Amino acid sequence: MPTLKYSKQREAIKEFLMTRQDHPTADDIYLKIREQFPHISLGTVYRNLALLSEIGEINKLTIGDGSDHFDGNISPHQHFICKKCNKIIDLKVDSAEYVEKVASEFSGHIDRCTSYFYGICGECLDQK
Ligand code: ZN
Ligand code: MN
Repeated sequence: MPTLKYSKQREAIKEFLMTRQDHPTADDIYLKIREQFPHISLGTVYRNLALLSEIGEINKLTIGDGSDHFDGNISPHQHFICKKCNKIIDLKVDSAEYVEKVASEFSGHIDRCTSYFYGICGECLDQK
């Protein structure tokens, strides 16, 4: 992979994502980054997010709500999506063991596995 030219905007997007635990969308990120770079376009934000996820510096989550969400936390963890409040909550589980088990019964090579857990979060359950 060719070395990437340093980009202040890309760095700012990454830094912003590291401060957030709520998995914002590209639009959320754009609104925030615009405070720092008033002339940045939504296209530039999209391009940088795509690039950052391609090189593995952030994670892109496609949870089926029509927009991609982004995660600055790239340590192994899973996600839970609440059907009621739509929050995406981190689950501290490592799927390595599961992937290993599947891989041991498969003749090809597996390099990643993405799964999402759906249901009702604790906060929404308490509100009943
Ligand atoms: Zn909820
Ligand atoms: Mn996460």
